Amino acid sequence: LTDKLSRLVKTLSGQARITESNVADMLREVRMALLEADVALPVVRDFIARVKEKALGQEVMGSLKPGQALVGVVNRELAATMGEGVSDINLAAQPPAVILMAGLQGAGKTTTTAKLAKHLIEKRKKKVLTVSGDVYRPAAIEQLKTVTAQAGAEWFPSTPDQKPIDIARAAIDYARKHFFDVLLVDTAGRLAIDEALMTEIKALHAELKPVETLFVVDAMQGQDAANTAKAFSDALPLTGIVLTKLDGDSRGGAALSVRQITGVPIKFAGTSEKIDGLEVFDAERHAGRVLGMGDIVALVEQVTAGVDMEAAQKLAAKVKSGGGFDLNDFLAQIQQMKQMGGLSSLMDKLPSQLSAKAGAMDMDKVEKDIGRKQGIIHSMTPKERSKPELIKATRKRRIAAGAGVQVQDVNRMLKEFEQMQDMMKKMSGGGMMKMMKRMGA
Ligand code: GDP
Ligand code: MG
Repeated sequence: LTDKLSRLVKTLSGQARITESNVADMLREVRMALLEADVALPVVRDFIARVKEKALGQEVMGSLKPGQALVGVVNRELAATMGEGVSDINLAAQPPAVILMAGLQGAGKTTTTAKLAKHLIEKRKKKVLTVSGDVYRPAAIEQLKTVTAQAGAEWFPSTPDQKPIDIARAAIDYARKHFFDVLLVDTAGRLAIDEALMTEIKALHAELKPVETLFVVDAMQGQDAANTAKAFSDALPLTGIVLTKLDGDSRGGAALSVRQITGVPIKFAGTSEKIDGLEVFDAERHAGRVLGMGDIVALVEQVTAGVDMEAAQKLAAKVKSGGGFDLNDFLAQIQQMKQMGGLSSLMDKLPSQLSAKAGAMDMDKVEKDIGRKQGIIHSMTPKERSKPELIKATRKRRIAAGAGVQVQDVNRMLKEFEQMQDMMKKMSGGGMMKMMKRMGA
């Protein structure tokens, strides 16, 4: 780890242009970040090749270091790959404009159908009808009925004993007769891609001649999203993508894969289970998410390089065995932060938007604050450190006097400790071990 780091730091400083040699390590990091964000491997390969070509020979501007400049190139290329500008739903058709929803079961088709209905009613002032062709799960039709009502749109009844194609015909007929602008057609999904499903939706497409065929895909699906996208895009002439569940903790690398594989724009992002949880997809912002976290992973690696592994492992074992996280542990963590060789040296690692924010922070002040916390804990008795709940008003006054600080400072430190303790509790399941593994690797 240390070797790798010193190499990386070298590539980050001193050189005036991006060259074959200084770009290689950085690109390896970017590649890792993308894979960790669950971008499909072939997509990552293509992407890295493009970035390399664009980056090589680029003159590095002003105070930028090659590493930062490369991050800039990567960010722009990410955004460009995921599509620039925004594209709303296309309704340029003889009404009713039909929108066909496609995707696996659980992807969010039914939810998105209602969200889109609401969007089209509110933003585009359209008269919207929805219909469900999901005849396999009895609850699916009812579900669409419920969410359609929430959206304030009209729902066209269907029943599980009907054929999807007949439902589609009846719905389009009704929509025409009652002057609907848009007909949203929800469809069945399977847990995995299967022939019968593809044949059925192809037939629906041929019958309905939709102006939009939207592929709905769960951002949490990660690597699998690429295969699903390929299957649907081979079967149907897709016109757009809706990436759902972006409110989850996935890094959304699926966006890159599905966009690259289907070649159609990501039009919307699902950001909650609720009816208003739909946003126009913003490629640039999303690029920050896919890449930014990767840099944070790198940052964590650099941080842990300065951390005493043995102490960290002991802590993990203690937390895991149910032994609480106390002020002694908190103190050990604070000391480790000091050991990392100055916080300001870490700032280079942050993604550009973040480091701008961090740059506004006064590092001297942050380091002084760490010193103050250390002083406070040092003024406590061993018993107080292992049982922080003992620390009430009188003890607080004594500790504050001993450390030469105000009682508020003691309170603030205890509050931070409690937050950390809380986090440790949450991580004491699998999370902590996973993090330790990463640290040790
Ligand atoms: P379908 O099988 O493709 O019709 O999927 P559904 O619309 O029934 O959605 C499956 C599950 O995912 C439901 O529990 C939805 O509430 C949930 N869901 C859909 N879209 C989103 C989203 O953008 N964010 C979150 N958090 N949940 C979503
Ligand atoms: Mg459904």
